[in-house]
Amino acid sequence: MPPSSSPIELVADYVIAGSGAIGMAFADILVTDSDATIIIIDQYDKPGGHWNVAYPFVKLHQPASFYGVSSAELSTGEFEQGGLNDGLAEMSSGPAVSAYYDDVMRHQFLPTGRVQYFPLHTYTGDGNFVSHVTGQTYHATATKKTVDATHLKTSVPATHTPNFTVADGVRFMALNNLPTITDAPDGFVVIGAGKTGVDACLWLLDHDVDPEAITWIVSREAWLLDRKNTQMSEPFFFDTLGTQAAMMESIAEATDKADMFERLEACGYFCRVDESVTPEMFHGATVSRAEIDALRTITNVVRMGHVTSITPDEIQLVGGTIATTPNTIHVDCSARAIVNTDIKPVFDGDLITPQMVRPYQPVFSAAVIAYVELNYDTDEERNALCGVVPLPNTTDDFITFTLAALMNQYAWSQDRTLRKWIAKNRLDGASKLLATIGADDAEKKAITDRIKAAAPLAAAKLFEFQALLDAEEA
Ligand SMILES: Cc1cc2nc3c(=O)[nH]c(=O)nc-3n(C[C@H](O)[C@H](O)[C@H](O)COP(=O)(O)OP(=O)(O)OC[C@H]3O[C@@H](n4cnc5c(N)ncnc54)[C@H](O)[C@@H]3O)c2cc1C
Repeated sequence: MPPSSSPIELVADYVIAGSGAIGMAFADILVTDSDATIIIIDQYDKPGGHWNVAYPFVKLHQPASFYGVSSAELSTGEFEQGGLNDGLAEMSSGPAVSAYYDDVMRHQFLPTGRVQYFPLHTYTGDGNFVSHVTGQTYHATATKKTVDATHLKTSVPATHTPNFTVADGVRFMALNNLPTITDAPDGFVVIGAGKTGVDACLWLLDHDVDPEAITWIVSREAWLLDRKNTQMSEPFFFDTLGTQAAMMESIAEATDKADMFERLEACGYFCRVDESVTPEMFHGATVSRAEIDALRTITNVVRMGHVTSITPDEIQLVGGTIATTPNTIHVDCSARAIVNTDIKPVFDGDLITPQMVRPYQPVFSAAVIAYVELNYDTDEERNALCGVVPLPNTTDDFITFTLAALMNQYAWSQDRTLRKWIAKNRLDGASKLLATIGADDAEKKAITDRIKAAAPLAAAKLFEFQALLDAEEA
C-alpha cells in the first residue's frame, strides 16, 4: 500500500525519541512503575542504540550487573576467566548487550500493549517522524511529555567521519574492521588514546602483534579508572568503597589541583599508562591494571597532537610529521563516544532531556530521571534532584563533574523515599555492596563512616577549586 500523503496521527502519554541505552532505561521505569502509554522511535532496526554498530570485539567497560534497564538482569553472575580481566565481574559482549535490549523490547515492553515501537524511523522534531522503508510520515502527540533520548549523540568509529584527511592509497580502517584483516601489514598505527584506542591496542597485542610493530598516536595522556574499583560484589567491597573513601579524602586534603590528582593516583582512584606524562584528558575510561601493563609494552608512542592528514608515506600531526608506509594499517579510534556536551535542564515544560545525573552511570541516570518524572509535581522539584553531571573531557572537568555528582548525591540523601527507591534499583551498584554490611561488621562500617565524613569536606574543596576555574575562565 502506498504511504498516506498526510501524516498518520498518533497519541500517547510519552513520546521517546531514541531507543539507545538511555531511552530504554527511561522507558523501562514508565513501563514498570506507571500505566503510561509510550511511543518509541529510533533510526536503527533494533533497540540498543550504538550497540547496533559497535566494533565486533566490543565489551561493556564496566560490570554487566548494573547496566541495561532496571527491571531485567543483564549479568549472568559469571566472572571473567583468564585474560587481562581475570577474576573481575563479567562485562557483556556487544552482541549480548544487543540481544538483551531486543529481548527487553519484545518480551517486556511490547507485550504490555502500552508501547508502540517504530524502528527504522527518523524523528524530525515536534512529534514528527518518517519511516526509512515506506516513507510514511507520522505525527505523535504526547499528552504528557516528549523525551529526547538522542541528546548525548554517541559517536562510534563505524559512524564517525575523521577530522583529518586520508589520501588514496593509505590502508585505513575503523577498528570495527580489524577482524577482517586477511593480508598482514608492515605494522599498525592506532590513532586515538581514548577507550577505543586502548581496545584496538589490546586487540592487536592479543592477536600476537609485536608491540614494536604498533605505533600509538596519543595526543593527550588520560586519567583512567581502575576496573577493580568498579566491582559491585562483596569480595570487592574494600576495593570499590575503600577507593571511594580514599577518593573523597584525597580531594578533601588536596592543597591545589595538581596535588589533588597526585593524591588520587597515589590512593589508586586514578591510573595512567605513562606515569612520566601529565594527563590532560579525562573521559572516565576504565581499564584493568593488567591491561595497563600490556599497553606499556607499546613504546612507539607519538605525542605530537592531533593527526591532520595521512598520505601513503607520511602522517602529518599538529606538532610534526612521522613516516609511514603504504602497507601499514592505520586504525581510526578518534571518535569521541559522547559528542554532545551541551547541558540542558533535564525537565523543561513538556520536554525531558535525560543526561548524566551520576558519574559514569548513564543508564542509572535515565532510570532516576524517569522515577523523578513520575513522582514529583513541579520541574523545580525535579531539576533540584537531577542536576546535570557534565560529561568530562579535560582533567579540569573532573572538578565540575565530581562537584555536580556530590550535590545530587546530597539532594538524594535528604529524600527518604527516593533513597529507598535507589537502594532497591538494580542499576545502583553501590547499594548491593552496602547491603553486605552486617550488624557488627566494624571494618566495613569504618569505610562508610570515612565516606560520610570526607564527602562534605571534599565538596567544600571542590567548590574552592571550581571558583578558581571560573575565575581563570572569566
Ligand atoms: C564502546 C562503549 C562501551 C560502553 N560501556 C559502558 C559501560 O560499561 N557502562 C556504562 O554505563 N556505559 C557504557 N557506555 C556508555 C553507554 O552505553 C552509552 O554510550 C550512553 O549511555 C549513551 O546512550 P544513548 O542512549 O544516549 O546513546 P545511543 O546509543 O547513541 O542511542 C541514541 C539512539 O537515538 C537514535 N537516534 C538519534 N537521532 C535520532 C533521530 N533523529 N530519530 C530517531 N532516532 C534517533 C539512535 O539511532 C540511537 O539508537 C559505553 C559506550 C561505548 C561507546
